Amino acid sequence: MQNLREIIPLPKANWHHSGVWLGIPPPIELQHKFIFIDRLSGLVEIDLTDAFFVVACDAHEQDEILTALRKNQNTALSLILVIAPSPLSPYLANGTFDMDTLTKVEEYFHKKSLVNLYYENNREFTLLTYLWLHSGNDLSPIKDPKNASVYYYPLFDAWGINIIDSFALLAQLQSKGWLESTRLESRIRCCPSCQSARLNYIDVCPRCFGIEINLRASLHCFNCGHIGEQSSFRESGMLACPNCLTQLRHIGVDYDRPIETHSCHHCQHLFVDAKVQAQCLECGTTSELSDLIVRNVRHYHLTQTGRLLVIQGALDQLFADNSSNIMDTNQFYWLVKWQNDLAKRHNLEHAIISMKLLNLQEIVSSKVSFDQLQEFQQRLSSVVRGTDACSQFTEEGLLLFLPFISPDEIQHVFQKLTDLIAIFPEEFKFSFCEIHLPAEIGADVKSWLVDNLASLER
Ligand SMILES: [Zn+2]
Ligand SMILES: [Zn+2]
Ligand SMILES: [Zn+2]
Repeated sequence: MQNLREIIPLPKANWHHSGVWLGIPPPIELQHKFIFIDRLSGLVEIDLTDAFFVVACDAHEQDEILTALRKNQNTALSLILVIAPSPLSPYLANGTFDMDTLTKVEEYFHKKSLVNLYYENNREFTLLTYLWLHSGNDLSPIKDPKNASVYYYPLFDAWGINIIDSFALLAQLQSKGWLESTRLESRIRCCPSCQSARLNYIDVCPRCFGIEINLRASLHCFNCGHIGEQSSFRESGMLACPNCLTQLRHIGVDYDRPIETHSCHHCQHLFVDAKVQAQCLECGTTSELSDLIVRNVRHYHLTQTGRLLVIQGALDQLFADNSSNIMDTNQFYWLVKWQNDLAKRHNLEHAIISMKLLNLQEIVSSKVSFDQLQEFQQRLSSVVRGTDACSQFTEEGLLLFLPFISPDEIQHVFQKLTDLIAIFPEEFKFSFCEIHLPAEIGADVKSWLVDNLASLER
């Protein structure tokens, strides 16, 4: 890499966080703004809590450094900028070092200050937090024919999540409504035994599965019914049946061509269509096409619900018995339906409260401080603390299921929520509403909730 000054328009303003410059040294004008290290081992001497990174290396080394930074627990979610792109930089870095760097740095640290989700040792939450911090980036797969899975997610790869777990994780996050697919990149079929996508599709005899099959022309004698290869019917320039010796003159009258145009060299079977099987090039397993695992390889981004979870994380965990035990959306719907049936039979009363933050975008851009957010969340959680509520984030907001609650108690909760809104009239725009159980839910709980909540929002 030659003169950096020719490549990058230098950002002028100062930032208050430690920029760590990795690779070849920064230009003189920038040297006082960065902690410079020429190799990764230098990282151990730096306090990384408030750091962002600029990587300036040749492509191969840069990809190694990016992977190592994402692998390191302290820098797995950090803002990393590059001077020039490398094969993995679109997947592991967060853009280029340019005139907008100051904005990127400030936005990153502001968002970081709003994260309330305790994500350590939790793959799902780590990914959500990463996507929240770097919301311009989708989670994208890369195509690599040298890899047995052909497609993989470089970020997951750096985090040590193998391709099978990657797809399971993404499916879970999608079913919880926290991630959504932005684009379908491709569809692959994988070996059911080893999950490799490198398969050889081969046509075989449908009877003995031998691979030595040929296309061949055969004839069918109408006189005796004999079927055989065309060459065996040739007799001194004329067609004659080798079995009954009848001379064959007119197709459709004396003979025809059977539709079976393939023959097997092993078992002599004649057939119309060969059978296609998939042979795994990795483990050698032969599979029927219908047994292959079909995978849609997609790009993903965070949903509004996912963003809410990251900044309201602490709130959600106060309600859950165990921070890692957050219900699947479908489980929550199932629970509601079951409790509703019980309530009908035993004359009980339950309630569902939906709470929705309406101005998330504003909160992020208008720089509501972390202290304000914390205070808001503490007050919010105290409103329902003490009840054994089950909660679930959905597109409809944070849903709280409050079992065995009387109308008086609900009024009490509502009064507290109204008081809370009065404390932060500017910062947090908030809506809430409640549904009483038992109710006539019908078969589809989700549709029932959506319809009811839409008509109730205050
Ligand atoms: Zn295999
Ligand atoms: Zn055969
Ligand atoms: Zn014949």
